[in-house]
This record gives sequence, C-alpha cells and structure tokens, in this order.
Amino acid sequence: IVEAQGVSKQFGDLEVLTDIDFRLSPSEVVCVIGPSGSGKSTLLRCLAFLEPYDHGSVYIDSQLLGYEDSGGKRVRTSEKRVDEVRAPVGMVFQHFHLWPHRTALENVTEALRLVNGLSRREADEEGMAMLEQVGLADRAGHFPESLSGGQKQRVAIARALAMKPRVMFFDEPTSALDPELVGEVLEVMNKLAADGMTMVVVTHEMGFAAKVADRVIFMDQGRVVESGAPDKLFRHPQSERLQQFLNTWR
Ligand code: ATP
Ligand code: MG
Repeated sequence: IVEAQGVSKQFGDLEVLTDIDFRLSPSEVVCVIGPSGSGKSTLLRCLAFLEPYDHGSVYIDSQLLGYEDSGGKRVRTSEKRVDEVRAPVGMVFQHFHLWPHRTALENVTEALRLVNGLSRREADEEGMAMLEQVGLADRAGHFPESLSGGQKQRVAIARALAMKPRVMFFDEPTSALDPELVGEVLEVMNKLAADGMTMVVVTHEMGFAAKVADRVIFMDQGRVVESGAPDKLFRHPQSERLQQFLNTWR
C-alpha cells in the first residue's frame, strides 16, 4: 500500500534516516519501536508525505488515489500533488491538537464540512457514527477541556477516521496519557486493527505491539536494525542493541 525504497534524510549534518526500505501491505499492522531520536517520527512523516527526504523514493498504491483500473500500480509520490497523496493517510499524534473552542463532534465534523463539503446534517450524522466507533457518542457536545486525555485522543482518532483513510499512522498516541487512560485508546486501535485497517504505530507499548502487530520494526540511529514477527523479535532479539533496548522496557 505504501512503500519506501532507500529513503535517507539529513537535518543539517545529522543523518536521521539511512537507507530505509519499508513495505506496508493491505490490512497489515506494523509497530515501530526504538530509542528516542532514532528517527521513528521522521520515518512516519516521510511515509505520510509530511516531510521531504533527500534520497530514495516513497510509493503509494495508485488504487488509494482512486484509480480503480490501475491493477495495483504504484505511484511515486513526488510525481503527484502532495495533498492528493496525503488524502488516504490518517494521522494521529502524541498531542491531540483538538480545537479548544469546538465540541468533540465539531472537531470531528470540521473537515467533513470544509474539505469534503458535506452539509451540517450530513457531517453531524457521519461525525456521530465516528464518535460511536470510538465509544464517545455520549460526549459529542463536550468541549476538549472537559474531556480526559484518553477521550481527547479518541476524538482525534474519530476525526482522522471521518476522512475515510485507507491507512492510519499513529505517532506515540498514548505517550502523553496518564497510565490509567492508555488502555482505552489502545482498545480503540486494537478494534481498528481487527476490522482490517492498515496501520503503522510508533509506540513504546510493547504489550500492544506483541498482541496486535503483524510485524515489529526496531530502529536505532536512523536505521532499521531488526524487523519481524513480534514473537520472534521480542523473544529472540538478534542484535545486542535490541536486547539492551528491550531490557530497559521490561
Ligand atoms: P522520539 O522517540 O523522541 O519521538 P524519534 O525516534 O521519533 O524520537 P525523530 O523525532 O524522528 O526521532 O528524530 C530523529 C533525529 O532527528 C533526532 O536527533 C532529532 O533531534 C532530529 N530532528 C527531528 N526533527 C528535526 C528538525 N525539524 N530539525 C532538526 N533536527 C530534527
Ligand atoms: Mg518521535
């Protein structure tokens, strides 16, 4: 669905990504783990076309762009308008970035109305369905300040889902949450994965990765050091670097 070939990126003298190959298949859930500064967010941003890279290519399945008859042909994203290739990708970040002066429902429906041109009634209907999906229909009229962190993050997920993404990227969606609120967000993500959503999740939640991921990628210093099924990676880490990393999280 999305593919990176030999992607490298520098910030000034700092090489942040080195020769990254990555391929995401339909309905696959990939968790990205690694120490702070290893390039996880940058990789996600490059794959989501939010960040330019210096070398290599990112491709997206042309069917995601609405070319029904393409037979799965890939499009090199630099050849397309950025807003066009971004459209099938939903993003959820560590900090939720909700509009403080809009209700939960309005946060979800904003783009439906402004970008997709739905009427208020259509957008509200769609928005309520999305809030329902994350278990927050009863909070539709609440403003963000009266929602818990976990609820805010679920609104952010509902907002992303409202745009009917074909792929969801999560960048440490639970890192800013109090521990007791982490579970409700992971549960929503778990459900999404079970429903067949294609997902890339940068996370420190090893339990979630072990349970939900089809594949785990361990990054260090801008490189993919190891990748594989969670069972294999967590139980039999090959590199010393991953062994060390896992020990600090146990
Ligand atoms: P974390 O777990 O802390 O979120 P990460 O693995 O997501 O870390 P990145 O945010 O991708 O790491 O950053 C990788 C490296 O690139 C870091 O050394 C960071 O300081 C640097 N970096 C990131 N964004 C920029 C930027 N806009 N300008 C300069 N350097 C940057
Ligand atoms: Mg990061």
